[in-house]
Amino acid sequence: MKSHDLLMSMINIRWLMKGFMNRRFDVIIVGAGPAGLECAKILKNSACSVLVLERKNIIGPKPCAGGIVESVEPFDLPEHKATVLYRHQIHVRNNIHRFTSKMPIKVIDRLDLGQYQVLQLDNASNITIRSRVSVRKIEKERVHTTDGDYGYQFLVGTDGATSIVRRYLNLPSRYTIGMYYDIPEIKKHIIVYLDGKSLGTGYIWEFPHRNFTNVGIHYNPARFTTASARDTLHAYMKKKRYRVDAKTYRAFPIMHLYKGCEFKDNIFLAGDAAGLACKLTGEGISFAMISGREVARKILNPGYQMTRLDGLVKRKQKQEKVIGTFEKIPVGLNSFYTLFLKAFKRKFISLES
Ligand SMILES: Cc1cc2nc3c(=O)[nH]c(=O)nc-3n(C[C@H](O)[C@H](O)[C@H](O)COP(=O)(O)OP(=O)(O)OC[C@H]3O[C@@H](n4cnc5c(N)ncnc54)[C@H](O)[C@@H]3O)c2cc1C
Repeated sequence: MKSHDLLMSMINIRWLMKGFMNRRFDVIIVGAGPAGLECAKILKNSACSVLVLERKNIIGPKPCAGGIVESVEPFDLPEHKATVLYRHQIHVRNNIHRFTSKMPIKVIDRLDLGQYQVLQLDNASNITIRSRVSVRKIEKERVHTTDGDYGYQFLVGTDGATSIVRRYLNLPSRYTIGMYYDIPEIKKHIIVYLDGKSLGTGYIWEFPHRNFTNVGIHYNPARFTTASARDTLHAYMKKKRYRVDAKTYRAFPIMHLYKGCEFKDNIFLAGDAAGLACKLTGEGISFAMISGREVARKILNPGYQMTRLDGLVKRKQKQEKVIGTFEKIPVGLNSFYTLFLKAFKRKFISLES
């Protein structure tokens, strides 16, 4: 039995031992991704009884490149499992811009991140985690799941880009898409490939993990079909002589339409469910973790001002302004990228000689 299977079995057995007669919780968190688990971590050892519901068997795995930047605040990450990268390359077609960033990008496998977050909650008597339980329907103060009904005082939707909690709140959604393959070669730096002509405002990435490199494309589905995005990624991989292994193919939406985190009847959203991912880059893990923490603090103290979340939203809006500008440029997007990178480099990062 693998260690993550063992951990989930232990958690589920403990649930049986606690007695599954308790069907009412102060807080129900739907979805055990980075947002949900970080929310639970802040609620750990509080007076709130907390139930985390996760539809998957194993907590962690999710289509994702796993790049995390701690520019707003630090996280407790499984550093020993991360690839820590300071050196990056941005290719604008054939022009290569090399950077050394002041702050690293930490690349972590999502299974490792999820399992690490779960372990941190393992000894909390007020937190119950149930895997393999899917929320099917939501009502005021009650959720219907594949394991029966549960009552809640506070409901936190951290159920990702296709959130059922968001749908219950009747909020619209808007997506970009990320798709990728893993290749066995292990690269030394992150590569971001831009080409306004073939990719519009999308980009191709290469993110080195410890045992493989993740090569993918981020795009706006309003401008690209799945087939054309895939063809573009295949052409890039062919040019680089990377083998396309269909077994490693993954694709998933990334939700970027933010409409708030706090709603009527004690319902909260965080992470992708709240539309907090970035439309420009597809980055969402750090946004998910920070918003999960903020929502938990608000539940514990209703007077709490979610200033970190406000800062996050401002940053996201700034990034979206940039993509708005890129999108308005009808021709010469590559020249604009080059000018933008020069200005960006001066302000934030040092150029390698
Ligand atoms: C291809 C790709 C590459 C990406 N690369 C990066 C990257 O390098 N860096 C970065 O920062 N971001 C990246 N992202 C975005 C990132 O993956 C998300 O922003 C992040 O996972 C959001 O975290 P979350 O906790 O909000 O949601 P999720 O991680 O999606 O977690 C939601 C959880 O809820 C569970 N769930 C859903 N519905 C239900 C239900 N009805 N009942 C019970 N459980 C449910 C799901 O199983 C899941 O475990 C990428 C996304 C994609 C698609």
